[in-house]
Amino acid sequence: MLKKLAILVAVLCVVGFVVPERITIPVAEASRHDWNPNSFWFEPWGTSGVHKGIDIFAHLGRPVVSATDGIVLFAGHLAKGGNVVVALGPKWRIHYYAHLNTIETSIFRLVWPGQAIGTVGDSGNAKGKPPHLHYSIVRLVPVPWAADGSTQGYKKAFFIDPSAWLGR
Ligand SMILES: [Zn+2]
Repeated sequence: MLKKLAILVAVLCVVGFVVPERITIPVAEASRHDWNPNSFWFEPWGTSGVHKGIDIFAHLGRPVVSATDGIVLFAGHLAKGGNVVVALGPKWRIHYYAHLNTIETSIFRLVWPGQAIGTVGDSGNAKGKPPHLHYSIVRLVPVPWAADGSTQGYKKAFFIDPSAWLGR
């Protein structure tokens, strides 16, 4: 029984890495000009120290769409992130969408590139700032060689630069 379970988990892990990553910019009608490609790991960055994602600026209410295929693990309110959607995507990567105005998905829903999951807003600690989508990508399986000597650089084993990823 335990052996079968171990095999199942192993198979699921491998499948997670084999699923191809289909990619789209996670704000409808946005382009690469709508974020600063140097904003990943920008510092100082409030209580977070460094900026572990990118901010895609758009009008309030513009659709936020899933950047890739996945399954929603969280859809709700967090203090810093405001209205937040978290999805598990291919390669065991977590996709984090924050400061939403509205959430238009729910836990365990399947998502795919371009599918609406909410709208651009200024919730959480984006209050008073221009509406934007904060987008982060986090590896569940760290790659230690991605770490470097920058501030909190060891966390780069987990955080992927969404600007580089979207530009592939
Ligand atoms: Zn941000």
